[in-house]
Amino acid sequence: MTEWLCLLLPVAAASGWWAARHARSGCAAQGTVPDAAFLRGLNYLLDQRPDKAIDVFLRLAEVDGETVEIHLALGSLFRRRGEVERAIRIHQNLVARPGLDREQRGFALYELAQDYMRAGLFDRAESLLQELTEIEPEGRRALKALIEIYQQEKDWTNALNAAERLQGLTGRPMAAEIAQYRCELAEEALRAGDPEQAGECLREAQAAHPQCVRALMLQARIELGHGDAAAALALCRRVAEQGPQFIPDVLPKFIDALGRCPGTDLEAELRRLYASHPSPALATALADAIEAAAGPAAARDFLVSHLAEHADLTALERLLELQSADEGGCPETVQRVVSRLRARQSAYQCDQCGFVARRLHWQCPSCKHWGTIKATQPGSMDPSLDSPPTPPGA
Ligand SMILES: [Zn+2]
Repeated sequence: MTEWLCLLLPVAAASGWWAARHARSGCAAQGTVPDAAFLRGLNYLLDQRPDKAIDVFLRLAEVDGETVEIHLALGSLFRRRGEVERAIRIHQNLVARPGLDREQRGFALYELAQDYMRAGLFDRAESLLQELTEIEPEGRRALKALIEIYQQEKDWTNALNAAERLQGLTGRPMAAEIAQYRCELAEEALRAGDPEQAGECLREAQAAHPQCVRALMLQARIELGHGDAAAALALCRRVAEQGPQFIPDVLPKFIDALGRCPGTDLEAELRRLYASHPSPALATALADAIEAAAGPAAARDFLVSHLAEHADLTALERLLELQSADEGGCPETVQRVVSRLRARQSAYQCDQCGFVARRLHWQCPSCKHWGTIKATQPGSMDPSLDSPPTPPGA
């Protein structure tokens, strides 16, 4: 059924062009030679011989100046069917034709750039799209496509420039994306051993998008590197306020900073966070803090109370470790089974498309949204409170 539909789409496109052309000419008697050629091309499409059909339609283009629409329709349909080489051939032929007006040429160049992107020929696509950024109305679409390419190539400087141009053209806020590109540049600077440059990028990220928790987390990392634990602690607290879903990701820096700040109370801080945003990472960190302050029995009591409400394998694994230390504790086999089950759990999930991951990605590899992948939360021990799992790709 699907194959038939795919076959009929180009046929429908060609037929639509033929009908429109005859409506314009006003009679069926004109142009009998192109009509015969057109029917031959149509037959090739129906016989599933698309290359023969393309040959006919391209020859038709040489004697008939009204075939821009059919070229665009067929090229687009071939690309959607995954037949990119055929789409490229059609669109290349079209842009090489003299006599196209500015709008038609812009549209055809954009379609050809899409073909190149689909074929993975990013250099060629980028070159065409850069040309198109100067041509309205294709400029906006070209900038969006360029951003897609630069993101794929991790060329954050060009992605940033294109996003700022697009924001200026459309007025659509792109502050969240711009801040993420600046964070990517900050990470590059950190990898190159230049924390000052990284700090500058993060200040610009914060200026562009004050809600960007990633910039706060990176700045906390820099402050810890400089030995300024108080500044790092203040930044971690801001992450917890602005993006509580990211508390599990900032927790190691939070605990590090608290440990270096005199007069702070690690257990009290973790209890405060846990009360409002319980998570597997917080539960185990709090259990560790309780064990250090009051001994393993108190840590076990806390974990039991946590597990009474949360189906949390990470906390269960920690509880079994504490119990195994006692005589007659949990059998090792049970611990190993729980560890295996926990290791197979997906730790992160995209709240836009349901993509699951083992680590935090700031840009979802599936839907390409920024900041939508977050640590997964364990289900409730009350089945009536559980939300159904989000299917991948939903
Ligand atoms: Zn996603």
